[in-house]
Amino acid sequence: MNPGARLLVLGKQGAGKGTQAVRLSRHYVVPHISTGDTFRQAVRSGSELGVEARRYLDAGELVPDEVVIAMVRQRLTRSDTSHRGFVLDGFPRTVAQAEALAEMLVPNGLHLAVDLEIDTASVLSRLASRRVCVDCGANYSVIDNPSRVPGLCDVCGGEVVQRDDDTEAAIRRRLELYERETAPLIAWYEERSLLARIDALGMPDEVTERIVTEVDRRILRAAGG
Ligand code: AMP
Repeated sequence: MNPGARLLVLGKQGAGKGTQAVRLSRHYVVPHISTGDTFRQAVRSGSELGVEARRYLDAGELVPDEVVIAMVRQRLTRSDTSHRGFVLDGFPRTVAQAEALAEMLVPNGLHLAVDLEIDTASVLSRLASRRVCVDCGANYSVIDNPSRVPGLCDVCGGEVVQRDDDTEAAIRRRLELYERETAPLIAWYEERSLLARIDALGMPDEVTERIVTEVDRRILRAAGG
């Protein structure tokens, strides 16, 4: 059995983080932890967290660090992640979150931060065609990766919709915040020798293969191989 992995995926909105994180979680048999999916579920359920998070999500703003950090901290204490690992998707997004995560992961640490590299023009066209399952978060594209039955998720049968924050204004704001708050994480992980830069253009299968090659090399090295 695959020994698991402790990974996170960085990249601009529309780089394919969600798609690749789901694939990596299946490959390494570890939970996929998406802070964005968790917030969207909370908004739909009308919970206290959802009511608080909604105004940030709709505007494309970041939810305050302390709220996100507490949520991830709680999730990472569950035994599935502490035994086999995880794929974090959408977290960390600020240096403060990366620092908090490093503390949470003592003593095992992270295997790799995967940065999905893509230019802004490609991202804008991907975002316009993006659709997402409201139940499991699976990602689709009306152009090159539609669900088999229109409007229904291949994985869980849930409803497949366009995200409320995939509007032009919110996308522009999220890309701005990415440059200001999240892009510095690339240097942060590089300085700690934890970064893999991956070309995010191409078919999803090709991108997954590029990532898995890097991750396996890193895990082997961490194990002393
Ligand atoms: P995503 O699905 O990763 O694009 O996240 C959707 C929205 O959830 C973001 O635009 C933020 O409002 C919020 N969000 C998700 N992850 C984080 C995070 N790590 N820090 C702050 N806000 C977040």
